[in-house]
Amino acid sequence: MAQPAPNITKKLEGKVAIITGGARGIGEATARLFANHGARVVIADIQDEEGQTVAESIGSETCSYVHCDVADEEQVKKLVDSTIHAYGQLDIMFSNAGVFSKSKQLVIDLDFAGLDRIMAINVRGTAACVKHAAKAMVERGVKGSIVCTASLAATTGGESWTDYYMSKHAMLGLMRCASKQLGPHGIRVNAVSPFAVATPLTCSSFQMDAEEFEKLNQPLSCLKGTVLKVNHIADAALFLASDDSAFITGHNLVVDGGCTV
Ligand code: NAD
Repeated sequence: MAQPAPNITKKLEGKVAIITGGARGIGEATARLFANHGARVVIADIQDEEGQTVAESIGSETCSYVHCDVADEEQVKKLVDSTIHAYGQLDIMFSNAGVFSKSKQLVIDLDFAGLDRIMAINVRGTAACVKHAAKAMVERGVKGSIVCTASLAATTGGESWTDYYMSKHAMLGLMRCASKQLGPHGIRVNAVSPFAVATPLTCSSFQMDAEEFEKLNQPLSCLKGTVLKVNHIADAALFLASDDSAFITGHNLVVDGGCTV
């Protein structure tokens, strides 16, 4: 006998969400979760094949893929415009696309080309996403939710990867300014800050498979018995995107198993 469908409360029914960096990792997990919760999702990325495959596997009724390099403001503007053209509205912007340091990037030998690249994607890219999503929401009177993926690197200093730490600190500044300025319009702006989680980004940067990466990082959180997975970050993004966090804005939601306490 067929099992009855689980009774999921759909937290994003009728909402339209853009997820940048949605072709893989945290963004992909969040795209799947948002779609399961009733949202129509636009995945924006530069990895076209991976992005299209994810969108198709979620289903063309619910999800589509758009090529967008977030470092290019014009492409971000077009992404927002095309989403509104296709779906009639924009309720959620999950600005999640990001890159990591290409080398240790100690202050004493900081490579400014590397710094510019990381700032262009992580900081300017996020600023473009927040700007154009907010503009569209304000113009249409939408009380939307904007969520940015920062990092534990946004609140601590780093023994290396200075460019990445700098970029994530800047993102919190952006998020806090935007939450103050957009609050009067009923638009919420928050950040989710993951601890180290196995994704293509981290596994390739540290040249480890997911299991090795998790084993390396587990001793650093005080919470035992749970291994941090991308789904945990997606759950936090869903909380910030949905009405479950209706009175929360300007907040940095750290998902770190107590690593920073
Ligand atoms: P990932 O590489 O698996 O996914 C990131 C996605 O962003 C990729 O699909 C990539 O193609 C896309 N992207 C990169 N540059 C882009 C650009 N210019 N325009 C559009 N898309 C672009 O990485 P992830 O680990 O899932 O990281 C997602 C976010 O989470 C990043 O902002 C990262 O800094 C942050 N983060 C990750 C961790 C971690 O441990 N994985 C920890 C803290 C914060």
